[in-house]
Amino acid sequence: MNVLVLNCGSSSLRFQVIETDLDLIAKDGDKRLARGHIDRIGSLSLITLEAAGKPKVLETAPLRDQRAAIDRVLRWIVSPDSGIGGIAKLSDVHAVGHRVVHGGERFTKSVRIDAAVIDGIEDNIELAPLHNPANLKGILAARELLGPGVPQVAVFDTAFHATMPETSYLYAVPYSLYRRHRVRRYGFHGTSHRYVAYRYRQLKRLEREKVRLITLHLGNGCSACAIKEGRSLDTSMGMTPLEGLVMGTRSGDVDAAIVPFLHEKEGLTVAEIDTLLNKQSGLLGVSGLTNDMRELLDEEREKGDRRATLAVDLFCARARKYIGAYLAEMGGADAIAFTGGIGENSPAVRERICAGLERMGLTVDKSRNAAMTGGKEGEISKAGSRLKAYVIPTNEELLIARDTVRTVEGVPPPGAARRSRSKR
Ligand code: ADP
Repeated sequence: MNVLVLNCGSSSLRFQVIETDLDLIAKDGDKRLARGHIDRIGSLSLITLEAAGKPKVLETAPLRDQRAAIDRVLRWIVSPDSGIGGIAKLSDVHAVGHRVVHGGERFTKSVRIDAAVIDGIEDNIELAPLHNPANLKGILAARELLGPGVPQVAVFDTAFHATMPETSYLYAVPYSLYRRHRVRRYGFHGTSHRYVAYRYRQLKRLEREKVRLITLHLGNGCSACAIKEGRSLDTSMGMTPLEGLVMGTRSGDVDAAIVPFLHEKEGLTVAEIDTLLNKQSGLLGVSGLTNDMRELLDEEREKGDRRATLAVDLFCARARKYIGAYLAEMGGADAIAFTGGIGENSPAVRERICAGLERMGLTVDKSRNAAMTGGKEGEISKAGSRLKAYVIPTNEELLIARDTVRTVEGVPPPGAARRSRSKR
């Protein structure tokens, strides 16, 4: 089955074409046939297209909206110029898997998209006003362009965290707010945390129930997840992706009383404070320079910039604090695993996060750590560490493609969330 995996943002589109089916999944033999991304949708768009084993194609074109972007991608996929074997016409695209950011309480696993699912994703727009509308546009455009006969599946960022108990997902605010408005922690990056837990389980040849792991997804957005018995027990992002770790432009945890304080002192509206915390904070806000970790590390090394160091130190200290919190919450873990652009590529940041964890049983092996960059997977802790550390490059697209196949074939995804229902 050729599965088109789509990740539609408000002005961007990422895609992959993956050949997979139940047999290939069992043999770990799925094949990525192509991938690419389109940025700046709505103006002169930047298009990057890459078939497996072929050079990248870079183009610019004015693409009005998501529909135009998906149309461009589909035309390329079926054209002989793309060089993708086995796909010559639209009907060779057998299914579409969509990354959908917010599934709310309703979607606790991947589902085949129909009118009711579209309504459900719409209902969650108030929880993810930037993301869900873009995801929906992608779904509607793909259906229009490929026809209603091609199955489409929604894979939710929140679904992996549906197993969290009330003590993890409730905030200590009046319970009526949870009842009336579903004010609670949902968590995000679920497909990434789930993938890392799956790979860890493969590397260690463990049963799912034996996985006791803390995953750290460190990219532009960052989140940690406590995985006990193979399931999400707690995660750092909250009702929205703002909570938790320090991120590129998001503050992560702050005292909520900052909001009325800033309103009074700076005369900012609630919407302006929301923007400040989401877009002007984090690494960018502290350093005053950039949200990009690699650039900050360069500034630090080349110019000894004090605020660059401060931003990186704050980032690492917050991540370390979450490791400690989750170790306590889980009653101990066997390993931590780094993923995401920073987690996969920066030995320096990994070392700074793990500094001081020796008494908790984790000692980083300098040469193993230094070698683990550019997509490599493996252990970075010293032999004999009680708490081990790994780098596991994430692959959300692969899980989306696999969930798409399983959903179309009517096979439940492995470890599908056992819903932890609250007594309301
Ligand atoms: P997104 O969350 O948008 O998918 P990524 O996972 O690609 O983002 O992560 C982007 C972050 O990874 C940026 O802060 C970037 O600087 C950082 N990064 C990428 N490579 C390196 C590196 N070699 N050293 C340090 N940081 C890196």
